[in-house]
Amino acid sequence: MPKRILMRATLAAFLLALVLVPSAGAYGLEGGRWATPTITYYNEVPAYTWAVDTAAYAWNTSGAHVRFLKSSRRDAKVLLGVQWFKPGGETRPDMRGGRIYGAKVGIRDGLDRYTMALVVAHELGHVLGLGHETHACATMNPILIVDHPGHCPSPPPGTWVCRLLRADDVRGAVSLYGGTVRPMRGPEFCPR
Ligand SMILES: [Zn+2]
Repeated sequence: MPKRILMRATLAAFLLALVLVPSAGAYGLEGGRWATPTITYYNEVPAYTWAVDTAAYAWNTSGAHVRFLKSSRRDAKVLLGVQWFKPGGETRPDMRGGRIYGAKVGIRDGLDRYTMALVVAHELGHVLGLGHETHACATMNPILIVDHPGHCPSPPPGTWVCRLLRADDVRGAVSLYGGTVRPMRGPEFCPR
């Protein structure tokens, strides 16, 4: 009798796994990855220091085996600077033969630091080699609706989306660099 219950539980777990698998691979990849687990960056926009460092920290604590390290401009593999264009940000990776060697990240002037943290977290995802995810709540969703990614709930008035990465984003990074997807800690929204 206990054996039959166990089998039923196993079958239930199997069915659940079948249901969950399609969404597990929702993230997109751009076809390259860094050879080094430590990626140096330099941000030339003092007004966005907090936003950039907060976004880097989100990736560094995500559970993926990759790390952004603040460095001098000379030692930086990733350079962040202001560019004038419509989208919040844009990333141009230096990618050859499936390897990423560096990247230039352009960020727009005029966004508040909370929204910019979200934009930079998205651009750093591109720096890592992630593509866009258009069907689920993910920071790699290319649509930014005022202050939150498409398919994600909007923050209540007076708060910002302090959960800068979603499970799908981290799954994508773990698929490239190894590690484990850490459970999302802390609140989804924080007071401004
Ligand atoms: Zn993008």
